[in-house]
Order: sequence, then structure tokens, then C-alpha cells
Amino acid sequence: MLVDSHCHLNFDPLGDDEAGVIQRARDLGVEYMLCVSVNMEDYPEVLDLARRHAFIFASVGVHPNHDEGREPSIEELVEHAQDPNVVAIGETGLDYFRSTGDMTWQQERFARHIHAGIEADRPLIIHTREATVDTMDILEAENASTCGGVMHCFAEDWETAKRALDIGFYISFSGILTFKNAQDMRDVAKKVPLDRVLVETDAPYLAPVPMRGKTNEPGFTSYVADVLAEVKGISKDETAHLTTENFFTLFHTAHRHTPAA
Ligand SMILES: [Zn+2]
Ligand SMILES: [Zn+2]
Repeated sequence: MLVDSHCHLNFDPLGDDEAGVIQRARDLGVEYMLCVSVNMEDYPEVLDLARRHAFIFASVGVHPNHDEGREPSIEELVEHAQDPNVVAIGETGLDYFRSTGDMTWQQERFARHIHAGIEADRPLIIHTREATVDTMDILEAENASTCGGVMHCFAEDWETAKRALDIGFYISFSGILTFKNAQDMRDVAKKVPLDRVLVETDAPYLAPVPMRGKTNEPGFTSYVADVLAEVKGISKDETAHLTTENFFTLFHTAHRHTPAA
């Protein structure tokens, strides 16, 4: 049994084929999914998915690149996090690749999300792109170790992984781990302790080998786990078991349910 620790089930074209996506995930052994919020406007959709399915969990937060939607206060994030379906705050972080110019607004939003995570006692889902040092500096300065979290879709170097591990964070690998040119990433994955690693798809983006070029979906977590097992030199079953245990340890308010037949 596997968990997709980060996907966007409400995004097109996944949202139009919910039943199919879920069935194909089950066929590939993926029993649970964390559907991640990117803005307050779509958050109700994410929450609705989690309310309708016991095996789908939700997060609440605004992605660093979203600059048009409503800006939630710390109090609002904390309040949403009281919903039993909401197991995390995010995705949050910094992205200097897609946004440019003065990044103060991103940094302030990031800090608010960290404060909400601490206040609500919910782990953070961190997105970082071309902002490695600032991301880690802010996580440390704002005491993010208090609530913990995960570096999602990890694509940074070992030094960054080490900094994240040092503050108690988990590292989540996506389809990137399976790409031919991603030996660096596999070298990093080799060093991440087995009790701190997660797997994800970030569906509908970044489909793993052998599905590259197709729409990514939660079931494809299985292909990420194949490569992680290879890198770690352990069985697929063990990989599934460990990453699932890690998921439920980190997202401590997410509960297991008896899988549907
Ligand atoms: Zn992201
Ligand atoms: Zn995402």
C-alpha cells in the first residue's frame, strides 16, 4: 500500500475523471492521497474531495506563486486547519523562478503559513524553487521545526536536504527521481534516512518514467516508489510500508481507514 503525499486531484484533467483516477490509483496500490491546496478560491474543492472520500486528505494554504487571490490571515488558516479533513498547511514556501522582482510578499506569506502551522500544530508542505537559501533561512528563523513538515517534490542538493533533515523535516520525492538525467537526485535520495522519506506525484504534473509525457495521476506514485526501492536497495513492499508509516507519522491527524474492497 502506498500514499501519494502530494497531488492536485481537483486540477484539470484529473477533476473530470475522479472515479477513474481513484480506481487506477487503487489498481497500482495507492490507497491514500493528500490533495494539496494552492489558493483560497479552490480550497473548498479540495476540502470537498477529502470530505467525500475517507482516503483523501486535504491541506489549506496559498502557493507562493499565486498573486491574484485572497490572502488568508494566520487566524483563518488556523481555523481551517481545525477541520478533521485538513492535515497540513500548504503548499507554501518560495518560488523565485515563476515570480520575479521584490519577493517580500512571498516571504511574508511564507512566514504567516509557518506561524499558522505552529499555532494549529499541523505540518507544513514546502514548495521551493530557485530560492533554496531563503527558504531554509526562513524555516529556521521562524522555528518551523516546532510543527515540522515536508520538502515536497524535492529537487535540491544534499546540503539543502541536510538542513531540512536537521530541523526534523521529511523529504518527498516525485517523478523527477525517475528521470534519466536525475542521477544527482538519486544520489541525494540514497542518503536520506529511511524514516524521513516520502513519495508523491504532484499530479497532474511531472509524470514519472515510464509514463513521461502523459498526464500524471496519483497511481503513478508506484513508479516513483519503484525507483526509490532500487536506490535504497530494499524491496518495493518495504518501500511502500516505510513511506506509508512516515506519512502517517508526519501528518499526525490523518487517520487510516479500512480500504474499500
Ligand atoms: Zn509545489
Ligand atoms: Zn503541488
